[in-house]
Amino acid sequence: MVLHPFRFSAILHLLKLSVYFFVIRTDSHIYLDYAATTPLDPRVAESIAATMNGIYGNASSVHAFGRRAKVILEESRELIAKSIGAEPAEIFFTSGGTESDNHALTGSAFAQRRDKGKDHIIVSAIEHHAVLDCAEYLATLGFRVSFVPVDGKGRIIIDELQKLVTPKTAVISVMHANNEVGTLQPVKEISLLANARGIIFHTDAVQTFGKIPVNVNELGVNLLTLSAHKIYGPKGIGAIYIRKGTTIDALLHGGAQERKNRAGTENIPLIAGFAKAVELAEHDRQANFDHAERCASTLRAKLQKKLENCILNGDDRDSLPHILNVSIDTSQYDIEGDSLLMNMDLHGVAVSSGSACTSGSVQPSHVLLAMGRDEQLARTAIRFSFGKQTIVADVDRAGDIFCSIVHSLPRKK
Ligand code: PLP
Repeated sequence: MVLHPFRFSAILHLLKLSVYFFVIRTDSHIYLDYAATTPLDPRVAESIAATMNGIYGNASSVHAFGRRAKVILEESRELIAKSIGAEPAEIFFTSGGTESDNHALTGSAFAQRRDKGKDHIIVSAIEHHAVLDCAEYLATLGFRVSFVPVDGKGRIIIDELQKLVTPKTAVISVMHANNEVGTLQPVKEISLLANARGIIFHTDAVQTFGKIPVNVNELGVNLLTLSAHKIYGPKGIGAIYIRKGTTIDALLHGGAQERKNRAGTENIPLIAGFAKAVELAEHDRQANFDHAERCASTLRAKLQKKLENCILNGDDRDSLPHILNVSIDTSQYDIEGDSLLMNMDLHGVAVSSGSACTSGSVQPSHVLLAMGRDEQLARTAIRFSFGKQTIVADVDRAGDIFCSIVHSLPRKK
């Protein structure tokens, strides 16, 4: 088909317009989904680019090119280890939080069953799916899996955990803080309980690392999960901390990298970026924490002033400051699954919901259900999360937008 010159220029004009609107719209979008991921810090991007352009040797090669890569690998490992009070030999690079969680659970379950005949796994009911789905997979391989319940604020009930422990318990996995509501978990108490019984204890610190102090010795954990992209680092890189003396099986086989714990050529540019992100996060931790608290209190005050019966999910004291999860009283408003989220997006505000869309239907958040919220509340919850680039005035504006969307919902008779 040959396009008439006039039609061609009209299409070109339309294209230009849509690019213009796309740029303007995304520029004016307010990003409040930092718990999902964070933008790459330009200084991290620089360190990735420098490594990608200059260092191409394989860190396992003995020649000068390999040795240069190896230096970056080991310096990064040292920096990350130091940031959590670990030894460099206790840090193993992975492809991110999901892999580290899978490694922690599968590796300890297999090793404990083979070496000690233990085949029982305990996880909290509010874990990330990287832990929950892995535990369910292990159940299909003959492991018995128990779920620790949580209270209405999203904190696990220690007494219930104690009741679940048996001499056959191989591993306990309870996250440091929950990714949907931000509630901090009593990790120290759990580690005392686990250590006294010779049970391996894993915590997923993806949401806390770089935001509050994470020290493996103070927490008393055997295994800990880290991810780079929640702290302005690159996606696809993370680490697992494995305490010296804790034996777990490898997840990936096929090479001696990472002291045979994780086969595969190490991704040196991403590892360098991860280390840079950790360095920056450590340096700015208190300032970032205070800023997130300011953002959360601005939004909390706005919602409480403008929305009657707005329900804040989580714990307003023992919680991460960068996450605020809110449900709308569904006895008053007619509201469908993800419609609040989509409406917010249409109004230029990017937030997230706890619900997951599976096979075309919106599933309620397993975290909110475990906290005792009813299905409808669990389906309509919205998670706002803040980061170092969040502007407080934008949070205020997002709060106004959210309130006006809620006020425009049809009222139940
Ligand atoms: N664990 C928690 C608590 C998370 O929030 C996430 C990411 O959302 C993950 C694990 C998965 O990490 P990654 O995206 O690095 O695989």
